[in-house]
Amino acid sequence: MTKQTAIVSGAGKGIGKAIAERLAADGFFVYIVDLDIEGELVAGQLGKDNATFYQADISDESQVLALFQAVLAQHRALDVLVNNAGIIRDHMIWNMTTADFDAVIRVNLKGAWLMCREAAKIMKTQQSGRIVNIASRAWLGNRGQTNYSASKAGLIGLTRSLALELGKYHVCVNAVAPGLIDTPLTQRLKPEILEQLLQAQPTKTIGAPEDVAHAVAFLASAKTNFITGQTIYVDGGKSIGAGI
Ligand code: NAD
Repeated sequence: MTKQTAIVSGAGKGIGKAIAERLAADGFFVYIVDLDIEGELVAGQLGKDNATFYQADISDESQVLALFQAVLAQHRALDVLVNNAGIIRDHMIWNMTTADFDAVIRVNLKGAWLMCREAAKIMKTQQSGRIVNIASRAWLGNRGQTNYSASKAGLIGLTRSLALELGKYHVCVNAVAPGLIDTPLTQRLKPEILEQLLQAQPTKTIGAPEDVAHAVAFLASAKTNFITGQTIYVDGGKSIGAGI
């Protein structure tokens, strides 16, 4: 294989699918990692020379170890890891169960950490690589998302610390923080809630998965070798915070 290799978690649909499609278009061979078998369709559409599907739960340590073994068995290097898989279990804290908290932290934070650890071992040795973590504007705070917001704040802390650890090995680690993006996750929102969220946007628009993929492709590129530990917002300006 002469192509560069990328792993994208949660690439069976939504933002992850758009990232996988974009990286494949940019010439990467992409591992579409997802719990859901839907990822097979995405890989099929991209073609066997450009992508493959790997079914795994990224919050399960043994499945993550097996994934990286499988990648290394086929490819000599890992160039890009995109930690995109994420879930929500929204409730006001007084209605949130411990299971809601644990599930979100387990996938969004522990899962990304497990993936980062295995990628870091490879990228440190090869002295190159890019890791992009998909956080969320909600890390700044969102009612009903104490679990999710904390998981994404943790992911940004992880990103910054890992950038410090891997900097001298020429590995860049950054985060992308999307705002309101049109995916199966947000398509489940009640129309009146979606309308309220749109009105709170400086742009009054919802983003497309491709908007996030564009920022990820930039950070995944070998040209961005002096950008690390940063968070790029793709949120129509919501993070500016002065909306009324
Ligand atoms: P989505 O629900 O549409 O897709 C997420 C994918 O991740 C699904 O295919 C799912 O099967 C997979 N997944 C979930 N848990 C997994 C696990 N344990 N192991 C492997 N795969 C798993 O979500 P989306 O809207 O595309 O969101 C993608 C990422 O972007 C998430 O991290 C989310 O928190 C973040 N985000 C989304 C929005 C938005 O408005 N959609 C905003 C900010 C941040």
